[in-house]
Amino acid sequence: MEKIDTLLHARWIVPVDDKHRYLDNHCIAINEDKIIEILPSSEAERKYQANVNRHFNKSALMPGMINSHTHAAMNLFRGLADDLNLMDWLENHIWPAEAKHVNEGFVQTGTELAIAEMIRSGTTCFNDMYFFPDVTARVAANIGMRASIGLIMIDFPTVWASTPEEYIDKGLNVFDHYKGHDLIKTSFAPHAPYTVSDEPLKRICTLANELELNVHMHIHETAFEISEAEKNNGQRPLTRLNELGLLTPSLQAVHMTQLQDKEIDLLSAMGSHVIHCPESNMKLASGICPVTQLLDAGVNVALGTDSSSSNNDLDMFGEMRSAAMLAKISSMDATAVSAEQALQMATINGAKALGIDDITGSLEVGKSADIIAVNFDTIETIPIYDPVSHLVYCSSREHVTDVWIAGKQRLTDRVLNSIDEDKLKQDCRDINKTLEK
Ligand SMILES: [Zn+2]
Repeated sequence: MEKIDTLLHARWIVPVDDKHRYLDNHCIAINEDKIIEILPSSEAERKYQANVNRHFNKSALMPGMINSHTHAAMNLFRGLADDLNLMDWLENHIWPAEAKHVNEGFVQTGTELAIAEMIRSGTTCFNDMYFFPDVTARVAANIGMRASIGLIMIDFPTVWASTPEEYIDKGLNVFDHYKGHDLIKTSFAPHAPYTVSDEPLKRICTLANELELNVHMHIHETAFEISEAEKNNGQRPLTRLNELGLLTPSLQAVHMTQLQDKEIDLLSAMGSHVIHCPESNMKLASGICPVTQLLDAGVNVALGTDSSSSNNDLDMFGEMRSAAMLAKISSMDATAVSAEQALQMATINGAKALGIDDITGSLEVGKSADIIAVNFDTIETIPIYDPVSHLVYCSSREHVTDVWIAGKQRLTDRVLNSIDEDKLKQDCRDINKTLEK
């Protein structure tokens, strides 16, 4: 018998790989941080002697979800300003609140709150864009959360930096610090075409190529963004970004609610990724990303929640269901975005967009053990005919019981293992009071 760390037996395993829709009564064998085999439970017991044996007889195991667009620390602005259009919400509420309240301590507590919520919701990796990326990276690394940390850039001075040079220099320090880290990678995160001018974008383009970093950017979020750009620059933002050289397989284009057919073809030809945030787009009435046409054109589409102040949660179960439902009603076609496609968008497609699909995003031999257990033995989840349908259309984040990231258990029976929940709640209440003043 081969000695290994962990055997996870489950009634259902949904690997989100190319071969299996799901597996019955199988087992995931884990040693150190990796999946070494997925095999029938009966065989696993003969072959392996594990330090830890867990049996999920009425649960499904699936890959940890990848939230491909977040502003984690903004969890502390959850519910601060609702029911407003994007520019009113940003210019009159969010940006002034950020200028007044955001500092290192705010980002530390807000990020910890966001990661706690994400782990309890079955998310094992997030793709962030916010001020003090050094703090976000440090908090994620300390908790043992996988993350891609955006090195933010915006034309105007903020609490993080004052000039384009300062944004880039401070970002590059964060990149240097986390180079080669097991869980943390970095990307450039210019905020949006309307907040970053050509010169810094050219510099980012050159550096992204040199350092092999991804570029994470809000693009074509609203019709207003397009009409303003046409008025000011005489061209649509995607055309401008293409001329600047930013449309590459490293680009993560967030939102994309305004797309012409030729732009969908362009994204497909350039191999750029689209990050769809259906709930944020609905709440801010930004528009609807044409997901079905993008998928048909071969564009990789991943899912993100956006921040908790425009959503108002970091719930990827909700986001999967919203993505499927919104695609169906917007195309008046109930076959649009199937449960399987929604599940792929929340897992493997996110890994592809972040350039980490060799590490995570599916349950396959050699990949990191980023796994979640979802309890199907509840009043809300019986009976069960198809676990894939169940994960998308029936389960909620409250049904996530256990979470592993890189082989380490970070949630056990809904209790966080690497976060002091009571202290975190008190820290959040203290910040809550200062914002109410
Ligand atoms: Zn955003």
